[in-house]
Order: sequence, then C-alpha cells, then structure tokens
Amino acid sequence: MSATGLLELTACQAVREIAAGSLSASELFAAYRTRAEADRAAGEGGLNCFTWVAEGAPRDGAPREDSPAPVAGVPLAVKDLFCTEGVPSQSGSRILEGYLPPYTATVVARLQAAGAPLLGKTNQDEFAMGSSTENSAFGPVLNPWDRERVPGGSSGGSAAAVAAGLAPWALGTDTGGSIRQPAALCGIVGLKPTYGAASRYGMIAFASSLDQAGPLTRDVSDAALMLRHMVGRDPCDATSLAFPEEIARPGAERLDGVRLGVPEELTGEGIEAGVLEAFEAALARAGDLGADVQPVRLPHARHALSAYYVLAPAEASSNLARFDGVRYGSRASDADDLLDMYTRTRHDGFGAEVKRRIMLGTYALSSGYYDAYYGRAQRVRTKIAEDFSAAFGQVDLIVTPTSPSVAFKLGEKTGDPLAMYLNDYCTVPMSLAGIPAISIPCGLSRALPVGLQIAGPAFSENRLLDAAYALEQAIGFDAGAARV
Ligand code: GLN
Repeated sequence: MSATGLLELTACQAVREIAAGSLSASELFAAYRTRAEADRAAGEGGLNCFTWVAEGAPRDGAPREDSPAPVAGVPLAVKDLFCTEGVPSQSGSRILEGYLPPYTATVVARLQAAGAPLLGKTNQDEFAMGSSTENSAFGPVLNPWDRERVPGGSSGGSAAAVAAGLAPWALGTDTGGSIRQPAALCGIVGLKPTYGAASRYGMIAFASSLDQAGPLTRDVSDAALMLRHMVGRDPCDATSLAFPEEIARPGAERLDGVRLGVPEELTGEGIEAGVLEAFEAALARAGDLGADVQPVRLPHARHALSAYYVLAPAEASSNLARFDGVRYGSRASDADDLLDMYTRTRHDGFGAEVKRRIMLGTYALSSGYYDAYYGRAQRVRTKIAEDFSAAFGQVDLIVTPTSPSVAFKLGEKTGDPLAMYLNDYCTVPMSLAGIPAISIPCGLSRALPVGLQIAGPAFSENRLLDAAYALEQAIGFDAGAARV
C-alpha cells in the first residue's frame, strides 16, 4: 500500500487491512513513527505534538503480523499524563522531568493487550490544567488547521496529532472538557466516558472526582472501537465500574424518534455566531434524519463553571501535594534543609497556572472557608446533576456546541485566565454530572472546525455513539485540510 493510502486509513480500516493481510502492521507502525519522530525532533518548528516517540515497535504487546488481537497493529499515541512503564510520563510539567514510572496505566495496558503498540507520548497542558496547551512546560502545540492558532487543551497534543495524521488515534483525558474541546478545535472526534467507566489507575491525577480517560479519533467508529477496549472495572481503581454492556460498533443511519434536547442555557449568549450557525445546521440535519429536536432546561448550568473552578482546584491542591522533590521527578539541588528543598522544588517545578490552582484550591479548603466555597460548590454540583436527570426524563440526548469559539490565536487568552476558563462553558456541566459526552465535527466557521457536543445519561455510550455516527454520516465533514 502507498504511504499516503496507508495514512488515510482509519483505525477500524487499518485493523481490517491488517487482518486481511493486505497491510503489514510493522509498515504501518514505521510510517507513523517516522512522522511522529519528525514532529518531535522539530519541536516548536513543527506542531510540537509529541514529548516522546517510541524507537521501534515494542517486542511485546504488538505489532504481531498474525495476531488475532482486536486492534492489532494500530499505533497508539498517549497523553503524557498516563503512566507508561519505563517511558517519560511528565504530565507536561518540569517537576516530573525525567520521571519514568515503574508501571503502566490500566487503560494503556488494556489497549496494548488488545494489540495497539505505543507510538508516543503527547504534549499537554501542565497537569491537564488549560484549554490551549499553552501551559505545557515543553512548549505550546500548534493547530494543524492554522499554525498561528491553539489546538485546544489540555489534550492538545493528542488532538493535533490525530488531526494532522501523525497518529491514527490517541488517548486523552477530560476533567472539564479536555478531550471534547481540543477535538472540536482540531476537527476530530473526542469522547468523555461516564465517570467510572474507564479506570483512572496510572493517570497522573488532576481532579479525581472528574478525571476520565477517553478516545480522540478520526471518526465515531474509531472512538467506539477504542472505548470498547478501555472500559471495565479495575481492582486498582475503587471508583471504576463494570460497563453494563459491550460497546457496540455504531451503525445507525436514522434518528427516528430520538428526542434531542437543546438547552437554552448553553446555546445562547457567549457563543460565537459562526459556531451557532454550524450548530443550527447540524440540528437541521438531525431533524432530516428523523430526530425530534426540542428545547430543554438546565437551570443551574450557568453556575457550572464557578463550581468547577472551586472543586477542581481544591482536588488539585490535594493531589499535587505529593510532588515535593522526594518521590518523583526533579529535585532542587541547592537547598539548605528539607523544607527549603520542598519549597524550591515546587517553586521551580510548577508553572504559573498550576500555582494559581494550588493557591485557589488551598484557600477554598482552608478552615473557615470550607463550607462557603467547597461545600457550596458541591451543592451546586448536585443541582446540576439533578437538572440533567430531570432533562433526561423529557429527552434522550442533549446537544450543544462543544466550544463557544473556534480555535483562537496563540497568546490571545494567556493573559486572561477567566477568558481561558470560559472555553469550557459547555463541557463542564457534563463533567460535574459524571455523564458521557462526545464531540464530533459539524462544519467550519472562518475555515476552522466547529464541534457538536452530544451528551446522554450515565452509561448511554452506545446510544451516544449511534446518534453521533448517524449525524457524522449525514454531515460528511472533510478533515483533509489538517493533514501535514
Ligand atoms: N480547561 C479546563 C481546566 O483548565 C479543563 C481541563 C481538563 O479537562 N483537564 O481545568
């Protein structure tokens, strides 16, 4: 197969070609490795998607030419924050520079066991805090649609690599939008599963009650395939649950009888006109496919961002306490005593956004303020979850734009944290409620991709994927312009 033909294949197609013997797994791995390594070597002269690229195909785990493994031979790009044994896993931070974990995150291990060889680790915002990947200690990632623009974040390296054809598919994580928003800004598919559906074991934690791993892929079928090999209970993660059914291959052609709810709270003010236009066009397509599109209310959704920016920093301040120079990564060398060593290590190792969150979180949890901030935010979170439950009594799925804007310019929002936080206006409510949501490309605005978000009740991933698939086929989005 020609090199370009090979790079055109989705993961599902590559699996079929490899199984049929018309494509060699090692040829596929080599083609992607060459591209990924060229991008890594170019650093900020390229897209800066990769922080580490495999030297060759791993000896175990794949590729095995004759293997019956379900995703045999499809190289996997993995967000930096997934611990991978013996491979740098730095979560985009200086403080973890040189950290080589002694074990591999469960979801990575499961995909490897299913036959996917590790291609590389992808660049991200430091500790997954951000919406533009500009907070990485290893430099920003560029958007392949327009290199003056951000790819979104925090899984920006994963999203840009898939959009640019530097990886067939990638793993990301989503705490408040970090899979869905970069997928939207890069014109690909991103799925945040139900909280607990996929193990968090081995994911370097940001906010444990929100963090979820999920796929970033070229299309909906690939997202379903990757998710199938990620989900399930893991004894190493007490919050993981057995998925009640197998993740099926999506195949719906119509949406007859599917009730799609459009929440006015997430589809009005603050959303760019071009984004709304593409969103409305997607709703019209859904109507053509037989969906019953109706308004729905999420009365507390407008408070989601405020609650999130108390809860996520509170959890982060606790999770990040472990990075003290003793156990992992870098250590200040010129310290006078132990306390000085802790202080200097954290001073030098953490970037500005991470320090901001640690301070916010520590303040919100301090005695005397706990109930006013953390307690109240938890109550808002419950209200938001109740809003969704009530809405799902009336509709099957909820649709919104994924991001209020298309990809913005590098540097445009770095000086204004609140403007940056608004990127997750439409994605944070689902995170707080723990429900699954997918972003699919639904059109262009100013020659940049727009994402459509579809959310459903907990464990409705099969329904979500089916609806997303039907819409994807009807929309026929062409991502070709982003390939490098
Ligand atoms: N952009 C949001 C934040 O900065 C969400 C990040 C994420 O989902 N990891 O917290």
